[in-house]
Amino acid sequence: MVSGTHGPEGYCGAAGQLAFLQARFHEGLPSSAAVLCIYALNCYGFAWDRRVNAEGCDLNRNFIDFSQRTRESGL
Ligand SMILES: [Zn+2]
Repeated sequence: MVSGTHGPEGYCGAAGQLAFLQARFHEGLPSSAAVLCIYALNCYGFAWDRRVNAEGCDLNRNFIDFSQRTRESGL
């Protein structure tokens, strides 16, 4: 569960994470399941109310699809 991929969304995302934990929903999960909470994934964007990170990258729009051939992989 990730919050703050786009900085300004970090407020509602963090509230959702907190509500999830306070309601103890994780206790209802099967023992084979786990929840990983990542708070403020784009901490720069969260701090500065910016969609992009410190490098100007929109983390949700600019990513490498590792299932496809990349120039770096030479695959
Ligand atoms: Zn977003």
